[in-house]
Amino acid sequence: MALIVQKYGGTSVGAPDRIRNVARKVAKFRAAGHQVVVVVSAMSGETNRLIALTKEVASNPSPRELDVVVSTGEQVTIGLLCMALEDIGVPAKSYTGAQVKILTDSLHTKARILNIDEAPIRRDLDEGKVVVVAGFQGVDENGNITTLGRGGSDTTGVALAAALKADECQIYTDVDGVYTTDPRIVPEARKLDTITFEEMLEMASLGSKVLQIRSVEFAGKYKVKLRVLSSFEDREGEGTLITVEEDKNMEQPVISGIAFSRDEAKLTVTGVPDKPGIAYQILGPIADANIDVDMIIQNIGHDGCTDFSFTVTRGDLAKALTVLEGVRAHIGARAVESDNTMCKVSIVGVGMRSHPGVASQMFRTLAEEGINIQMISTSEIKISVAIEDKYLELAVRALHKAFGLDAAAA
Ligand code: ADP
Ligand code: ASP
Ligand code: MG
Repeated sequence: MALIVQKYGGTSVGAPDRIRNVARKVAKFRAAGHQVVVVVSAMSGETNRLIALTKEVASNPSPRELDVVVSTGEQVTIGLLCMALEDIGVPAKSYTGAQVKILTDSLHTKARILNIDEAPIRRDLDEGKVVVVAGFQGVDENGNITTLGRGGSDTTGVALAAALKADECQIYTDVDGVYTTDPRIVPEARKLDTITFEEMLEMASLGSKVLQIRSVEFAGKYKVKLRVLSSFEDREGEGTLITVEEDKNMEQPVISGIAFSRDEAKLTVTGVPDKPGIAYQILGPIADANIDVDMIIQNIGHDGCTDFSFTVTRGDLAKALTVLEGVRAHIGARAVESDNTMCKVSIVGVGMRSHPGVASQMFRTLAEEGINIQMISTSEIKISVAIEDKYLELAVRALHKAFGLDAAAA
């Protein structure tokens, strides 16, 4: 007998027949003698609908009340799934995040899980029940409802698996595993049987939304056996296992995957006096405003002046511009320019460590397509470039082919 945590995403519970399908799947695992804890997302589109609703009543809703509203999507699906389970003779009990309780910090809309009380879940499991927990939500120490950021149900699933020391955490979604890149953009993308935690962390942080980055961090930290697989009947299989260590005996592909993000905006401060402390004077106030900076470039100075550019998410652009206007006046820079038509494309692979020339192959491929690179950043296992977003699909397809990832090349 194993204890399995299964997380079903929005599409997997997107309609009554999909919910009944999940109930049948869960029942099958239980009939095989396993204890099952299920985490569900809101029905697909529901979280977006709720967010849109808040914007119709207020221009700048408070984060606390935003969480009160958007957390309701998951409360509907836990109840519906329990009903569907009981309807086929499986005893089940639903819990909201607060009922479990999943204790988080108080950072509304992007809270972090601090602790999970697994005692009530264990009691129900021992009584033979399936436990169904609302994803994406928790409660802070003052009893306020919190949410964990978009895609946060993945993190609920993995955190529960860690707390319960589950044998496996299965993330059921609308694709049958982690692919070399988003199969919606590149039809030739291939499913990976395994991917290392390091690679999956990079893929998730660089824009592959198949897993929320915090869920991968959690799984790595607490050694949770994590698998991504399809909830759809016709795509059943082993999915993709996220592995703790790369197999040293296996020849690693140079590149395992390509990630991308359209959510990029560039800010440039021109005519900045080129002297020590300037980067701090520009980026310090940006950090104080809680804005995450990604890529940074400081150009070579001329006549004692330089240009300083960096990228932020598009949602933070307006706020960053306001902060920079103040900075510009303070440091005596010429102007602040912005561009919200950027995207970021990244190649990821642990095999990069032992293969020189990966960067030049990436840059050559983009040059051959006539794509101008505006910024570059690298780490040991990834290379990212910022380019104009109209070239995103072209770049991803060309790189996928150039690095031998296309299905036909396998
Ligand atoms: P869920 O609602 O189940 O959480 P998501 O929409 O959050 O599902 O994540 C699944 C989607 O992630 C897929 O439909 C796919 O379009 C996208 N995706 C992006 N990159 C990848 C990748 N490398 N492998 C698989 N899917 C990916
Ligand atoms: N329902 C939430 C969202 O759409 C959480 C999730 O699906 O993981 O972001
Ligand atoms: Mg998701």
